[in-house]
Amino acid sequence: MKKIFIAVILCVLTACSNEAVISEKHPYTEPKYERVTRGGVTYINDVLIVNKQIGLPPDFNPGENRYAKMKLNQMIKVAKKDNQKLVVRSAFRSYKEQEKLYKQYKAVDKNADSYSAKPGHSEHQTGLAFDIGSETSAKDFTISFGNTTEGAWLARNAHKYGFIIRYPEGKTHITGYQYEPWHVRYVGTKIAHEIFTKKVTLEEYLGLYPKDVTVEN
Ligand SMILES: [Zn+2]
Repeated sequence: MKKIFIAVILCVLTACSNEAVISEKHPYTEPKYERVTRGGVTYINDVLIVNKQIGLPPDFNPGENRYAKMKLNQMIKVAKKDNQKLVVRSAFRSYKEQEKLYKQYKAVDKNADSYSAKPGHSEHQTGLAFDIGSETSAKDFTISFGNTTEGAWLARNAHKYGFIIRYPEGKTHITGYQYEPWHVRYVGTKIAHEIFTKKVTLEEYLGLYPKDVTVEN
């Protein structure tokens, strides 16, 4: 107590900020990021990461994650009680399926990379990602989905069930993807809550930005 009192007095005298006192009690520690690769799959602090730079091997074929699906169903049920009818439009996709899809998009759209992942770079291959739409489907897979009552509900509540809006608005320079209000990724409630409150991307949360990320076109 005496020490704090002296520090406060010193701060007043030297016109320094209160931060000096706070940091003495709670010194800032640089977050630690432990990056491991298991079977060609990258995990940072035990969170599976796949993005434009970090890929998945073609034989990584886990199917739909049953726990994530259970949480998703739980969320959809609660949404329904709030009169929001959420519909799963897309879930697990194998490397091969992504390869086919990417080729199709690429053949007709030179900007396909802003929304379609190269094979081995889709989060859908992890079984932890889902595309959500609404029953009317009019705004599905469009940026306007974020403005529908279903999209707004999803943005407000997904974290309570362990999901994040993986490609948020205004973060394309970090994620490499345009805003996708429909694409959710399961990370668990603790992490989802942190990402939601801090308004960061998974890349930022895992220490991949600004250090290691360069967005390719
Ligand atoms: Zn998606």
